Amino acid sequence: MAESEIHHRTEEFKRILREALAGLRYFFQTQEDILIFASSGTGAMESAVANLLSPGDRALVVVGGKFGERWEELCKAYQVGVEKIAIPYGQALDPRVVRQRLEAGPSVGAVFVQAVETSTATEYDVRSLGAIVHEFPDTCLVVDAITGLGTMELRTQDWHLDLVVGGSQKAFMLPPGLSFVSVSEKAWRRVERSGSPRYYFDYRRERKSVARDQTAYTPAVSLIVGLSQVLRFVQEQGLDNVIRGARLQAEATRAAARALGLQVFSHSPCAACTGIRPPEGIPSTRVVQHLRKEFGLVIAAGQGELKEQLFRIAHIGYFDFYDILGMIGCLELTLEQLGHSLSLGSGVRAALQTYCQRREPGEPGE
Ligand SMILES: *Cc1c(COP(=O)(O)O)cnc(C)c1O
Repeated sequence: MAESEIHHRTEEFKRILREALAGLRYFFQTQEDILIFASSGTGAMESAVANLLSPGDRALVVVGGKFGERWEELCKAYQVGVEKIAIPYGQALDPRVVRQRLEAGPSVGAVFVQAVETSTATEYDVRSLGAIVHEFPDTCLVVDAITGLGTMELRTQDWHLDLVVGGSQKAFMLPPGLSFVSVSEKAWRRVERSGSPRYYFDYRRERKSVARDQTAYTPAVSLIVGLSQVLRFVQEQGLDNVIRGARLQAEATRAAARALGLQVFSHSPCAACTGIRPPEGIPSTRVVQHLRKEFGLVIAAGQGELKEQLFRIAHIGYFDFYDILGMIGCLELTLEQLGHSLSLGSGVRAALQTYCQRREPGEPGE
């Protein structure tokens, strides 16, 4: 990436972009269009609203955390009428609620959801949602899979996920600055009709450029060079193995939490990260600070109003089982030093046992 002084209107760059797009189709599990933007993930989320809906349209938004709230705010910014499906934070989504609403109420242009609501470390059943929304020819399913991609099975095309959003700084293991959207044929029909203002994020223009192995405007060249390499790495590993690696870490972390007398925050836990409730009387931020100061390890507290209610340990991207073992060991020392009574080694032991029970041959993490 540091070496890339490539001009973007050259054959050399076209070749790299072509390779990156092919890799993205594999990562997203789709043969439909994928567009790349130079923005953070939120830019691509905004582009989904602008390209699919017109002012006055109606949207159904699943809100079970910070990122669900973001869909709601984006829809409002584009004068889209929001109907909220509110889920208590950390609870699973019941897809039947979406079906009931789509069958009963006035027509909805799009359903917005997260594959993984990162703020509560919760996974949603987007597969079932895809099957439901597929029955409604004028409604698109939009999935923020920024942390779902690469950490859970996500078959964009087979599952009828009309628009899937990704971002470079999560499972793509890159610095922030790139966002991705996959767009189904059904979604394209809405894109053609949308009356919302858009310019940089206009999918129609970008699609024409991508057909010529170009981007409409100057791409983030160095990040796309990195992207093509990362996706090569993922293809060598095999996407299933990458996902299994994250899942193994998540299962091991949950087992460790239980062994340490702690509660997993989510009732539908994801594999991108694990949210754990801190022990009585110890705020999350103290756990976070101690791990950083004492061991140089970075984890996150909750977001917004959940700040002190959970701390979150990542499993996404380059993290592997070795990292998670060290993390759990240092977490034990941290909790002990902060006054939580535990039997040292019990978390690590539970993680090791999970590994022995779950590991399948050929998985990364050996
Ligand atoms: C990280 C994350 C985003 C990120 O948005 P940025 O604009 O890249 O900060 C959006 N949605 C989810 C679910 C995320 O985890």
